Amino acid sequence: MNNLNNPIPLNDRAYLRSLGYQVGERGRFSTEMKDELAKRDWQPSVQEVFKPEVKPEREGRQLYGYDKQGNKIAFVICHLCSSHMIWCRCSKGVHAPRYIHSSKDPLVYIPPVAV
Ligand SMILES: [Zn+2]
Repeated sequence: MNNLNNPIPLNDRAYLRSLGYQVGERGRFSTEMKDELAKRDWQPSVQEVFKPEVKPEREGRQLYGYDKQGNKIAFVICHLCSSHMIWCRCSKGVHAPRYIHSSKDPLVYIPPVAV
Protein backbone atom coordinates (compact mmCIF):
# COMPACT_ATOMS: atom_id res chain seq x y z
CA MET A 1 0.00 0.00 0.00
CA ASN A 2 1.90 3.05 -1.21
CA ASN A 3 -0.48 5.84 -2.04
CA LEU A 4 1.38 9.06 -2.85
CA ASN A 5 -1.82 11.06 -2.61
CA ASN A 6 -2.07 10.13 1.06
CA PRO A 7 0.75 11.83 2.97
CA ILE A 8 -0.42 10.59 6.38
CA PRO A 9 1.66 7.55 7.25
CA LEU A 10 0.00 4.34 8.37
CA ASN A 11 -0.30 3.82 12.08
CA ASP A 12 1.54 0.91 13.68
CA ARG A 13 -1.32 -1.56 13.32
CA ALA A 14 -2.08 -0.64 9.72
CA TYR A 15 1.61 -0.81 8.90
CA LEU A 16 1.91 -4.32 10.35
CA ARG A 17 -1.23 -5.42 8.48
CA SER A 18 0.30 -4.12 5.25
CA LEU A 19 3.19 -6.52 5.93
CA GLY A 20 0.77 -9.41 6.28
CA TYR A 21 0.54 -9.67 10.07
CA GLN A 22 -2.76 -10.47 11.73
CA VAL A 23 -3.23 -7.42 13.95
CA GLY A 24 -6.32 -6.71 16.04
CA GLU A 25 -7.55 -3.30 17.14
CA ARG A 26 -6.15 -3.87 20.63
CA GLY A 27 -3.54 -5.96 22.31
CA ARG A 28 0.21 -6.22 22.47
CA PHE A 29 2.56 -6.66 19.57
CA SER A 30 4.69 -9.77 19.33
CA THR A 31 8.48 -9.48 19.43
CA GLU A 32 8.48 -10.05 15.68
CA MET A 33 6.06 -7.16 15.14
CA LYS A 34 8.07 -4.87 17.43
CA ASP A 35 11.16 -5.65 15.36
CA GLU A 36 9.29 -4.74 12.17
CA LEU A 37 8.20 -1.44 13.69
CA ALA A 38 11.78 -0.68 14.76
CA LYS A 39 13.03 -1.40 11.22
CA ARG A 40 10.47 0.91 9.63
CA ASP A 41 12.06 3.91 7.91
CA TRP A 42 9.68 6.48 9.35
CA GLN A 43 8.17 7.13 12.74
CA PRO A 44 4.77 8.76 13.04
CA SER A 45 5.10 12.13 14.74
CA VAL A 46 3.16 12.81 17.91
CA GLN A 47 1.12 15.34 15.94
CA GLU A 48 0.14 12.74 13.37
CA VAL A 49 -0.73 10.14 15.95
CA PHE A 50 -2.98 12.45 17.94
CA LYS A 51 -4.48 14.41 15.05
CA PRO A 52 -8.22 13.96 15.37
CA GLU A 53 -9.89 12.95 12.11
CA VAL A 54 -13.20 14.61 12.88
CA LYS A 55 -14.35 17.42 15.11
CA PRO A 56 -15.84 16.56 18.48
CA GLU A 57 -19.62 16.63 18.67
CA ARG A 58 -19.67 19.06 21.59
CA GLU A 59 -17.60 20.83 24.23
CA GLY A 60 -16.24 18.66 26.99
CA ARG A 61 -17.80 18.87 30.44
CA GLN A 62 -19.00 16.57 33.15
CA LEU A 63 -22.55 15.29 32.95
CA TYR A 64 -24.63 14.72 36.04
CA GLY A 65 -27.41 12.41 37.05
CA TYR A 66 -28.92 10.97 40.19
CA ASP A 67 -29.03 7.39 41.38
CA LYS A 68 -32.00 5.71 43.14
CA GLN A 69 -30.96 7.16 46.48
CA GLY A 70 -30.74 10.67 45.03
CA ASN A 71 -26.94 10.86 45.05
CA LYS A 72 -25.53 13.18 42.42
CA ILE A 73 -23.14 11.28 40.12
CA ALA A 74 -20.87 12.67 37.43
CA PHE A 75 -19.98 10.77 34.26
CA VAL A 76 -18.44 11.51 30.87
CA ILE A 77 -18.65 8.18 29.01
CA CYS A 78 -21.79 7.29 27.04
CA HIS A 79 -23.20 3.98 28.22
CA LEU A 80 -24.46 3.05 24.73
CA CYS A 81 -21.54 3.86 22.43
CA SER A 82 -18.77 3.83 25.10
CA SER A 83 -17.44 7.11 23.69
CA HIS A 84 -16.48 10.15 25.69
CA MET A 85 -19.34 12.67 25.74
CA ILE A 86 -17.45 14.97 23.35
CA TRP A 87 -17.52 12.21 20.68
CA CYS A 88 -20.88 10.56 21.41
CA ARG A 89 -23.26 10.91 18.46
CA CYS A 90 -26.14 8.86 19.84
CA SER A 91 -29.35 10.42 18.53
CA LYS A 92 -31.11 10.62 21.89
CA GLY A 93 -28.18 12.10 23.75
CA VAL A 94 -25.38 10.79 25.94
CA HIS A 95 -26.76 7.62 27.53
CA ALA A 96 -26.39 7.60 31.29
CA PRO A 97 -24.94 4.56 33.06
CA ARG A 98 -27.52 2.09 34.38
CA TYR A 99 -27.18 3.23 38.00
CA ILE A 100 -28.31 6.73 37.07
CA HIS A 101 -32.09 7.02 37.24
CA SER A 102 -32.70 10.69 36.53
CA SER A 103 -30.97 13.82 35.27
CA LYS A 104 -31.81 17.45 34.71
CA ASP A 105 -29.08 17.77 32.10
CA PRO A 106 -30.54 18.22 28.58
CA LEU A 107 -27.61 16.35 27.05
CA VAL A 108 -28.23 13.26 29.16
CA TYR A 109 -30.51 10.45 28.00
CA ILE A 110 -31.82 8.04 30.61
CA PRO A 111 -32.58 4.73 28.88
CA PRO A 112 -35.83 3.09 30.02
CA VAL A 113 -35.22 0.42 32.61
CA ALA A 114 -35.73 -3.09 31.20
CA VAL A 115 -38.43 -4.95 33.08
ZN1 LIG B 1 -23.26 7.59 22.77
